[in-house]
Amino acid sequence: MNYDNDNIFAKILRGDIPCFKVFEDEHTLAFMDIMPQAEGHTLVIPKFAAETILDIPADQLIHTMTTVQKVVSALKSTLGVDGVILMQLNGSAAGQSVPHLHFHLIPTHLSNLKRHGSEQGDMDKIKALAEKISAAL
Ligand code: 5GP
Repeated sequence: MNYDNDNIFAKILRGDIPCFKVFEDEHTLAFMDIMPQAEGHTLVIPKFAAETILDIPADQLIHTMTTVQKVVSALKSTLGVDGVILMQLNGSAAGQSVPHLHFHLIPTHLSNLKRHGSEQGDMDKIKALAEKISAAL
């Protein structure tokens, strides 16, 4: 992995640029997204220098997810929303624009995503995908 020490979140972690911090512990930092997709859009990042989910050791990922869980709970209670979407993009091909691993926490009542559970997919395609993914695990 070629981690870029000058990416914007590395700068935030070093305190070189400011952020609206909502939580910090030894391993993680949570702060507001300044170009939010919805009110309360928050980012959770590990302090570990990882670009994508493939670049972080499992124990550090657990610390990160523990913080994600805490912040989701805080978003629900503080904003009074019923739902919080978790989003995490790996690689520019997936739309990742900041090359430091981060989880988006997007509070929402309704989203403009296609709603799951509403329209049946192509069962052959779904089955084939399940087999492929399962074989990789
Ligand atoms: P990505 O597309 O990499 O998954 O998401 C990067 C996120 O970082 C975007 O939602 C964007 O709004 C946010 N972002 C970009 N620059 C800054 C910044 O300087 N400060 C904060 N707090 N968020 C940023």
